[in-house]
Amino acid sequence: MQPHAVECLERSLKTEVTELAIVGAEPVFRDVVHVGRPNIGDRQRLWQRINDLLDRRWLTNNGQYVQEFERQVAERVGVRHCVAVSNGTLALEIAIRALGLSGEVIVPSFTFVATVHALQWQGITPVFCDVNPSTHRMDFRRVEERITSRTTGILGVHLWGGACSIDELTEIAHRRKLTLLFDAAPAFGSSYKGRMIGNFGQAEIFSFHATKFVNALEGGAVVTNDDELATRMRFIRNLGFRDIDDVVCVGTNAKMNEVSAAMGLTGLESMDDFIAINYRHYQHYRRELADIPGITLLPFSDQEQCNYQYIVVEVDQSRAGLSRNDLVRILNAENVRTRRYFFPGCHRMVPYRELYPEAGRFLPETERLTECVMCLPTGSTLRSEDIAAICQIMRLAVAHAADLGAVLSKNCVDVRLHLMEEASVPTLVEPHGQNELL
Ligand SMILES: *Cc1c(COP(=O)(O)O)cnc(C)c1O
Repeated sequence: MQPHAVECLERSLKTEVTELAIVGAEPVFRDVVHVGRPNIGDRQRLWQRINDLLDRRWLTNNGQYVQEFERQVAERVGVRHCVAVSNGTLALEIAIRALGLSGEVIVPSFTFVATVHALQWQGITPVFCDVNPSTHRMDFRRVEERITSRTTGILGVHLWGGACSIDELTEIAHRRKLTLLFDAAPAFGSSYKGRMIGNFGQAEIFSFHATKFVNALEGGAVVTNDDELATRMRFIRNLGFRDIDDVVCVGTNAKMNEVSAAMGLTGLESMDDFIAINYRHYQHYRRELADIPGITLLPFSDQEQCNYQYIVVEVDQSRAGLSRNDLVRILNAENVRTRRYFFPGCHRMVPYRELYPEAGRFLPETERLTECVMCLPTGSTLRSEDIAAICQIMRLAVAHAADLGAVLSKNCVDVRLHLMEEASVPTLVEPHGQNELL
């Protein structure tokens, strides 16, 4: 494991509201704590592989490590084919093209924008479907009302690394004769009803981006049990080349390079350790957050394998007394960079908000979630005492929500003075310099 990149100040947990950084006190973390930092794995093994590929002078074009990476991913998933590519977005684009999707495709708006861009990029209209509020994943009961004569497919997303309603979507796709593709970018290593994600629909895609728990620096893959589809995707990935001088279709350059594959292989070797760390962090958060009113941790199923790479909480302002945005600001002041995934929702981003200005009418749950969901830090560089410190800040903030809420809109100096007066502590606060307020 790497040396820890974050260090909690050597002091006990904050216990008073006046100790919060949002009101001018020192942040609990000296260095910034990110929502996730890349997992590296065994550096020695990585350097060996990189030296080896340099010695062999084979840097890309279906090299030995790419082939080995494809074999290992396919084996772990239990799928016939893995086509490794340079990132998850291209994996989506290639699968969409190879499957011949056109017209309209049903997709959630509550997802990373890459899912939707991959459709729009190819002139396909994304038709947004609302999500189930308890899972945050596409609500299969809302899918059929979005189908029109132009619909050719459904693009489900295994958000947060957990499966969407695969059985129900499979049934709808079959009955309505639609193509079913899954964006499983965050779901490598997770299962659905005991079977690994990657085996469902016509194809599924994974991302091995640096922010995913197994990474290839940048990387992605399409997995499928369809031989013919796999062959077509291999051509498309390599500019349509079937053989030297033999181009059989229009294609792009989406090849994974050997250094990425070396990184991916190194990550795969430590994958079980990464999952164990994520799981420990998830359980720790679960215990710490259980007693904070209005803060709900999104649960993962105990019945399935899961990579636990996201710590997702919903903030219920009516019970917490603070909004999600308030908590983001409070934690940000402590140098904790939480993320408002997936704010503001794809349908409110350019170009979709101009192209489909009415989309929000169909997305009440999506609109609600984009206002109350946030992701908390996890991963191999985070220590359990960091989690305790983060949760204590949240606990303190919620306990003093009335004070903080009343003053969050004012500037930091005022807030601290106000709170100190309330606590009848002598007001010894130095006003901040002009620069700090800019
Ligand atoms: C990470 C991610 C992608 C994009 O993968 P890249 O490798 O970054 O291109 C697509 N969809 C979802 C849901 C993701 O989480």
